[in-house]
Amino acid sequence: MEKVRVDSDRCIRCGACVAVSPENFEYGDDGESVVINEEVSEDTRQAADMCPVYAIEIVNEEENNNKEEEKEAA
Ligand code: SF4
Repeated sequence: MEKVRVDSDRCIRCGACVAVSPENFEYGDDGESVVINEEVSEDTRQAADMCPVYAIEIVNEEENNNKEEEKEAA
């Protein structure tokens, strides 16, 4: 299942993602973007495409879990 993540350290607080996809993102205490809903929609993808510093990542949780399991098994 796909989920959205944001690297708040990388965020330059431009507000694009909050404007494009307010169902996913909100301003944090310091104006940085924080994820309020991890569900991925077309708006989420558009927000990720628009982020000027590539702080928004759409990840496949199952794939990540499998990779971690592979790492642990190695
Ligand atoms: S679009 Fe990127 S840089 Fe702009 S507020 Fe969102 S996460 Fe931060």
